[in-house]
Amino acid sequence: MSWSFETDPDYQKQLDWVETFVREEVEPVDHLVDHAWNVGDPLRNKLIKPLQQQVRDRGLWACHLGRELGGPGYGQLKLALLNEILGRSHSAPVVFGCHAPDSGNAEILAHYGTPELKQRYLEPLLANDIVSCYSMTEPQGGSDPTAFVTRAELDGDHWVINGEKWFSSHASFASFFITMAVTDPDAARHDRASMFVVPADTPGITIVRDVGVWGHDEGEGHHAYIRYEDVRIPRDHLLGERGAGFAVAQTRLGGGRIHHAMRTVGLVRASLDMMLERAVSRRSGNGTLADRQLVQEQIADSWVQLQQFRLLVLQTAWKIDHVQDYKQVITDISAVKVAMPKVLLDVVGRAIQLHGSLGISTEMPFGKWAMESYHMGLADGATELHKIQVAKQLLKGVEPAPGLFPTGHLVTQRDAARARFAALLDEEVLSS
Ligand SMILES: Cc1cc2nc3c(=O)[nH]c(=O)nc-3n(C[C@H](O)[C@H](O)[C@H](O)COP(=O)(O)OP(=O)(O)OC[C@H]3O[C@@H](n4cnc5c(N)ncnc54)[C@H](O)[C@@H]3O)c2cc1C
Repeated sequence: MSWSFETDPDYQKQLDWVETFVREEVEPVDHLVDHAWNVGDPLRNKLIKPLQQQVRDRGLWACHLGRELGGPGYGQLKLALLNEILGRSHSAPVVFGCHAPDSGNAEILAHYGTPELKQRYLEPLLANDIVSCYSMTEPQGGSDPTAFVTRAELDGDHWVINGEKWFSSHASFASFFITMAVTDPDAARHDRASMFVVPADTPGITIVRDVGVWGHDEGEGHHAYIRYEDVRIPRDHLLGERGAGFAVAQTRLGGGRIHHAMRTVGLVRASLDMMLERAVSRRSGNGTLADRQLVQEQIADSWVQLQQFRLLVLQTAWKIDHVQDYKQVITDISAVKVAMPKVLLDVVGRAIQLHGSLGISTEMPFGKWAMESYHMGLADGATELHKIQVAKQLLKGVEPAPGLFPTGHLVTQRDAARARFAALLDEEVLSS
């Protein structure tokens, strides 16, 4: 019976090293670096590059990647155990080379890029010498990608892109964008769009503004509103088949969602740890907050939610490793995506309350983490769409009740049981 919750001892040693390394070396850098993704920032490079080298020396660089792409090929379960440590630090995913959106964009390039595109973009991306951007959402439509209107038309040996994209995170730092555009407007709804590599310095690209989000970067931020005007890119910058944009997108979205969830486990754990410390530190009456039963309830509820969520994430990671196909685990990934913002907001909310006015102040990280939960409920698909996905999968192939009442109807079941055992029941009556 292979049902185990143990971590192999060698890997546990690596995780112990990561725990100390992130706490002592990486978390301090979070306070000094403006944005860990900004490879053009000299201070960031001075601080982060030596840490990345230590991770490489330890054999933990780009743990999301298989060996063919230069990673250790650990698979999703080991990655989950690593990511839940990295999740509590802004810079740690970059220090370990497994940060979004580059991790997903690398998967797309590896699957669909020509050898030239891989050499030009994938190799420096995997080395974190450059970063990338995923440019899909449009101002007039995010949840419903069939509403996208950005067009790509063939003109000789070039595709010409026109349209607007919205919330293209990190576009200002990126060397290239992976952009979805409609190539076949008259095709079936899901066969209209294709995916392209768009070099960031191509003439015709304008960043209208960099949108900020509460919790990350109030005011000017890093989520670009982009205008594409007659942006000409070579014909071979098409990724995958023409019209297969949605299928190509799935290559990155499955992994992207579960990786966010792994990191979110780390944030929830950090919130709970801070609650525990506060509970035993803060005086209340003759004791501490930890002596108050309502506080104990908040702690217990938080731990239960964390454990449930973590097990769902780990089991989903385990399933992906077993079937090696995100599509077969789509329901589990959507369930994780649904649970993620709620668990984070619930636990962070309790941490805020327990810390009183300090908790709600900008001197603690909780406000940022609470907003993070709203980001999680939108990025890579709104919660509602993932609930729909879970429900649709569960409803598939379910038969309607054969009669007037449900199959769980007690009276119907009792009548059926009586009919089945009528002879035996008659004997009982006669012998009594
Ligand atoms: C922090 C962050 C980073 C992001 N980074 C990127 C990125 O790098 N690249 C990129 O392309 N996009 C990115 N996005 C955009 C994200 O993918 C979209 O915000 C998301 O797909 C939702 O689209 P929308 O914002 O247009 O919301 P809408 O589609 O307008 O939906 C708004 C709300 O309507 C409801 N709703 C919509 N459809 C349904 C339905 N069918 N049933 C029930 N309710 C529904 C939901 O409550 C939903 O939240 C990012 C978003 C965030 C918050």
